Amino acid sequence: MIDLHTHTTASDGTDSPAALINKALSAGITTLAITDHDSTSGWSEAVTALRPSLSLVLGAEISTLTLDGISVHMLGLLFDGEDKHMQNMLAESRDTRIPRMRKMIDLLAADGINISIEDVMAATPVGATLGRPHLADALVRNKVVATRDEAFLELLHNDSKYYVTHAAPTPEDAIRQINQAGGVAVIAHPFASRRGEVISAATFTNLVSAGLHGIEVNHRDHSQAEREQLAQIADQLGLVQTGSSDYHGNGKLNELGENLTDPEQWARLESLASARRVVTK
Ligand code: AMP
Ligand code: ZN
Ligand code: FE
Ligand code: FE
Repeated sequence: MIDLHTHTTASDGTDSPAALINKALSAGITTLAITDHDSTSGWSEAVTALRPSLSLVLGAEISTLTLDGISVHMLGLLFDGEDKHMQNMLAESRDTRIPRMRKMIDLLAADGINISIEDVMAATPVGATLGRPHLADALVRNKVVATRDEAFLELLHNDSKYYVTHAAPTPEDAIRQINQAGGVAVIAHPFASRRGEVISAATFTNLVSAGLHGIEVNHRDHSQAEREQLAQIADQLGLVQTGSSDYHGNGKLNELGENLTDPEQWARLESLASARRVVTK
């Protein structure tokens, strides 16, 4: 069972990397990628907690913005975690999330909503990539809303008047950077339209030119029709198809392993990285 997209407390998941490893073992996962938002800081704890029968894949989910302002999440897998250019790109993205959070808080507070930067920091694990889910958790603690989900539905969704973007690389820049660091690039949930505007089918050609390797086809935010359309695009462009849970612990309904990647697809994806970087014990 291969699950190539999961989050920990290094970003907006609620399980520590060690806890995620234990849950993956219990769930029967055999290959697990840890893909925190704009960060690889959960990696060393995960490697330490690793046990036989599970293979671990270093990854990150990079937030990008097209020149038209469409939000695209790019999974980088199997890159060299020590690569300086890659780590600089991730660090820049994390840095811009702090002023972005302050702007969102100012907009909420100006409308009389009880929230401060201190509240959000108190709801954010040390060292985690700061994101809207932490703001959501702070709003729950302040009893403005009852759940993370309600916070997103009512206040924090992409079309909300309180939503602010942060500076981010373009999808092409992120793909090139992942390639330069020896990894493989898989576009995450590209047709998840519930989250906001999505890219057109024609855009995939440009991403392939930049070095895209795969498409996350099987993901809970895609309908059956969207999965079929994406599978067709992947076939036409010679891209690998993946499936994954996008697990966030208690932060979302997604269950570990609820969508999986076929072993043949994974074998092909792994062979496209510049080196064999899957970690086992
Ligand atoms: P950000 O990167 O700060 O823009 O936050 C995006 C994160 O919010 C993504 O990881 C999503 O998984 C998460 N998210 C989006 N919608 C929801 C929701 N309804 N409930 C919980 N988390 C969500
Ligand atoms: Zn997330
Ligand atoms: Fe995502
Ligand atoms: Fe994700």
